Amino acid sequence: MVFPFRSVQDFQIEIPDEVEIFRKSVRELVEQKIMPRWQEIEKTNEIPKEIFKEMGELGLFGVGIPEEYDGQGGGQLMTAILTEEVARAIPSLGVAIGVNHLFGIPILLFGSEELKKKYIPPIARGEAFGAHANTEPVAGSDVAGIQSKAKKVNDHYVINARKVFISGAGKANYFVVSARTEPPKADKRWWGITVFVVEKDWPGVNVGQQFKVIGMRGEQPYEVILEDVKVPAENVVGKVNEGFKIVVTTYDYTRIGIAAQAVGIAQASFEKALNYALQRETFNKPIVTHEMIIDKIANMYIRLEAARLLTYWAATLADKGRKEFVIAASLAKAFATETAEWIARQAIQVHGGYGVDTEMGVERYLRDAIITTIYEGTNEIQRLTIVRQLVRQAFGLRI
Ligand SMILES: Cc1cc2nc3c(=O)[nH]c(=O)nc-3n(C[C@H](O)[C@H](O)[C@H](O)COP(=O)(O)OP(=O)(O)OC[C@H]3O[C@@H](n4cnc5c(N)ncnc54)[C@H](O)[C@@H]3O)c2cc1C
Repeated sequence: MVFPFRSVQDFQIEIPDEVEIFRKSVRELVEQKIMPRWQEIEKTNEIPKEIFKEMGELGLFGVGIPEEYDGQGGGQLMTAILTEEVARAIPSLGVAIGVNHLFGIPILLFGSEELKKKYIPPIARGEAFGAHANTEPVAGSDVAGIQSKAKKVNDHYVINARKVFISGAGKANYFVVSARTEPPKADKRWWGITVFVVEKDWPGVNVGQQFKVIGMRGEQPYEVILEDVKVPAENVVGKVNEGFKIVVTTYDYTRIGIAAQAVGIAQASFEKALNYALQRETFNKPIVTHEMIIDKIANMYIRLEAARLLTYWAATLADKGRKEFVIAASLAKAFATETAEWIARQAIQVHGGYGVDTEMGVERYLRDAIITTIYEGTNEIQRLTIVRQLVRQAFGLRI
């Protein structure tokens, strides 16, 4: 049964040779230069600038961006592999990659040629960073509930906005910002939201407090406040009043990246647990030979590979331009993030007391994994999307 897909062939995952070559080169960089710095990043809550510089020079911020905008090309699959490999070492570095895409995807999919030419190349070259400012104190899951305002005045807009939990805002040069240009219509709550590109150094743009969230140290989110910020009309992304579609379509793509972050976290937790289980002895034998530990390791591995397959599958469907990628992306995001949380928890248990020692670097994966179940659409919202998409694709019904 392939419902709601067309044929069993829809389950093919196509991974070209160059993706594997790319994966190996990313892993080499990660293991040599990034992984050894995890303790420093946990302690300082900052990713060293040299890491970004080196990634930029290697073109890694251009992965998933067309060559005509100075990117490296490659699609969702390539981006997912990059994210997974990086997150296996430092999950918050996966966030830094994801945040650039949260900025770039709405412009690449909906923006004018001028916006693409102006804002995408510096991001692709690693010379600038973007961020995505949608969530507000009163509205996260409910994107249509945002209250920030943008008023048209002659040839520009004046934006007043308060945004919360904005990842990457500290180092971002540019933001995409959503704001209401008109009130919602009675039968269309989503109507009236517009998306803008705003530069950080424009008067009235302020990065506020940093949120002290439990994980993803190195890339924790900020409050962003816009007070009477004058934005030229040409910085509107897509159509005025139709920004809701832009925001939610962006998340359809970027949540594949969250699934990939989760696969990286799950992979790292699994590797650590297996290595430890082979080395640690109790009752005169390695704990990997105790039945209950065998059961844990086997179940961790089963779920890890299932999460990876769902993620690569969603990315493959997106790269093929298949609209069913939306449901696959939600399946992957929900499953991979819950898998990462579960595997990270099991990894702590396998390590016994050392598992909860912060110097071991195991418990951090659980703190990071929990965050992946929340952003870019909580897993409750993923389940809502899954059932809505399923019913729409299978029966043509909107619920
Ligand atoms: C570390 C971190 C980084 C983030 N980075 C960004 C960023 O860069 N840019 C940005 O714009 N936002 C960002 N966010 C915000 C994030 O996307 C929101 O927190 C998330 O979408 C949930 O919104 P909320 O916090 O307002 O929760 P709410 O929407 O208030 O939800 C509260 C609870 O109710 C549930 N719920 C809500 N509606 C429904 C429903 N219809 N059915 C069932 N359950 C429902 C939710 O699943 C959740 O469990 C970030 C958040 C975190 C924690």
